[in-house]
Amino acid sequence: MTANLGSADRPLRVAVIGAGPSGFYAAAALLKEGFTVTVDLFERLIAPHGLVRYGVAPDHQNIKAVAKTYDRTAEDPAFRYFGNVEVGRDITHAELKRHYDVIFYTIGAQSDRRLGIPGEDLPNSMSATEFVAWYNGHPDYKDLQVDLSCEAAIVVGVGNVAMDVARILAKSVDELKRTDIAEHALEQLAQSNIKDIYIVARRGPAQVKFTNAEIREMGHLEIADAIVLDSELRLDRASSAAIEGDTAMQKNLDYLRAYAEIGVTGKPRRVHFRFLLSPVEIIGENGKIVAVKMERNELRPSVSGDIKASGTGRYETIPAGLILRSVGYKGVPLEGVPFDNRNGVIPNEIGRVIDLDTGRVIVGEYVAGWIKRGPTGVIGTNKPDAIESVNSMFEDLQKGKIPPAPEPSPDAIPALLAERGVRYVTKDEWKLIDAKEVADGKALGKPRIKIVEREAMLAVIGK
Ligand code: NAP
Repeated sequence: MTANLGSADRPLRVAVIGAGPSGFYAAAALLKEGFTVTVDLFERLIAPHGLVRYGVAPDHQNIKAVAKTYDRTAEDPAFRYFGNVEVGRDITHAELKRHYDVIFYTIGAQSDRRLGIPGEDLPNSMSATEFVAWYNGHPDYKDLQVDLSCEAAIVVGVGNVAMDVARILAKSVDELKRTDIAEHALEQLAQSNIKDIYIVARRGPAQVKFTNAEIREMGHLEIADAIVLDSELRLDRASSAAIEGDTAMQKNLDYLRAYAEIGVTGKPRRVHFRFLLSPVEIIGENGKIVAVKMERNELRPSVSGDIKASGTGRYETIPAGLILRSVGYKGVPLEGVPFDNRNGVIPNEIGRVIDLDTGRVIVGEYVAGWIKRGPTGVIGTNKPDAIESVNSMFEDLQKGKIPPAPEPSPDAIPALLAERGVRYVTKDEWKLIDAKEVADGKALGKPRIKIVEREAMLAVIGK
């Protein structure tokens, strides 16, 4: 019976959960192979594309252009889209198992890590993840309270997300209004009083996580200078040795050195890079953030070979009214699916989901993207990652290791959703919403004007 799974008589039915980059790369790889496969892609939100729509910065339209590739995958007649359907709420894991031979989890890393310091829960202390979702028009973050009336903001962490949020705070309204930044965010950023943005690293300049393009951009901001203290650029011996031959890191350092040399040119805003500082307390007065106390660090090579930050017991305080912690994303568990709490991922072996109790592979269940390997890499990293997992699945299929679903009818899921009154959005309906956004944007010289609220999106398609 298993033998004909994946044939024209009995196509392999695959459910992919999560319509971000890894979901689309998995779908593309599934549909490309020699087998007959149908893919149903489920997404909690109405709009597909995950981080490409709601994560990638609005002034990075060149990166967002990858969505066209995803749209080409969606054109395949064997691909169906079920937007506005939350697995675990609208449809259960058991129901998926009943109607699909294979499930792929591509749910990304939807939460963030915390600093665990006093004052972290004060208003205007938030994760960069939330701030990004707010300015990118994510429906769940439209009402996030962001107060930009203060004069200084602190971004903790030196990854590319930190660079994104700092850049958005540093850009003029004229620069931002040509993007697809959410209208509510643009309105507030237009009133921003922030002049100093501090990007604070717990380690040194040889341990930054941002990439060359991102640090380069900081030197080309229309209304902000990039400020680096020469005294913080001196490398200890271990750091110098660690980056020998690392051309990307050398280039990062070249940019930082160039900014240190240029110094202040008198632009109205400043992006300060500060090194070897760890926030230890967010200080509030009358419920408002006024400053962050930082401990000065020194670097110590550890036995594992890593270079670690270690507190010196010396402190400095930076006045600021907005704190964005940009210290990494974190995966969240999905009902009925194993979860490795420590690493925030679904436990797996080359993409095959593993039962944590038995250590055995769970047949027919796979994982790809950030929920497989953790929140690292750029959008394109998810392509080989998804292909690897899809290859594992095809290997299992060929070996007859995938049992067929008991009720494989393609009509079962739409019927179930309709019966439950779930207003799911198809790929043709999404295309209508997308076309409206693009048309509205065109009139104003923007790539699109995002529709933020769910109800407003559903209204476009008369649902
Ligand atoms: P990331 O690159 O892992 O950076 C996290 C930063 O947080 C690091 O500087 C880390 O410092 C710091 N950090 C962690 N815990 C800390 C703590 N307790 N106190 C102080 N600092 C702490 O993560 P990300 O910026 O969230 O980016 C996630 C992924 O998306 C990355 O692979 C990134 O390249 C990618 N991304 C790419 C783009 C783009 O291509 N333009 C844009 C956005 C994101 P340590 O090194 O000391 O741990």
